[in-house]
Amino acid sequence: MKIKNVFLDRDGTVILEKHYLSDPKEVELIPEAGSTLAAMQKQGCRLFLITNQSGIGRKYFKVEDYLAVQEKLGELLDTFQVNFTATQYCPHRPDENCLCRKPKTLMWDKLKKKFALDPKESIIIGDKEADILFGRNCGFKSSILVLTGHGLKEAEKLDLPCLTDSWMKLAPQKPNWPDIVARDIKAAWEAVRKGLMTE
Ligand SMILES: [Mg+2]
Ligand SMILES: [Zn+2]
Repeated sequence: MKIKNVFLDRDGTVILEKHYLSDPKEVELIPEAGSTLAAMQKQGCRLFLITNQSGIGRKYFKVEDYLAVQEKLGELLDTFQVNFTATQYCPHRPDENCLCRKPKTLMWDKLKKKFALDPKESIIIGDKEADILFGRNCGFKSSILVLTGHGLKEAEKLDLPCLTDSWMKLAPQKPNWPDIVARDIKAAWEAVRKGLMTE
């Protein structure tokens, strides 16, 4: 199998997008996200969560709130026996010009080093252009845009063709276009299994 590492955006990809989520009671999995992550693990993939949390830098909430949300997410995923190999978050505001906020690559650089990851064995699934560009900047095998969360709006902004099935490959590529567009995380994984593993 060629894909060993799945990088996942959190808000709008794994859990429902709630504007600057900081209350653990508000954490809700995207439908089929738990079973899909379990399926990824069953295929031998390691899961990495990477999330921009500028609400911390904007002082909308504290690191402790973020951690409480993460704990709740962990509880919800326990039901599916899903574990993230590692999680990274960027707490900064965009104007702080840090090196970790997606689409910049510091979160990848750290994980790559720690876990000896190969970008060609890695993919990202996210609901924003920043996730797609992150995958590009890291040299990933594939960057997948889901239409949950901010995804629909982002697809419009990027002028992507309309989705007529649960997922599609995009070719020819534009620099900021995803390789694949998928209705949701479940469809994204289906696309990976059918489109990438068999290449
Ligand atoms: Mg997101
Ligand atoms: Zn940062």
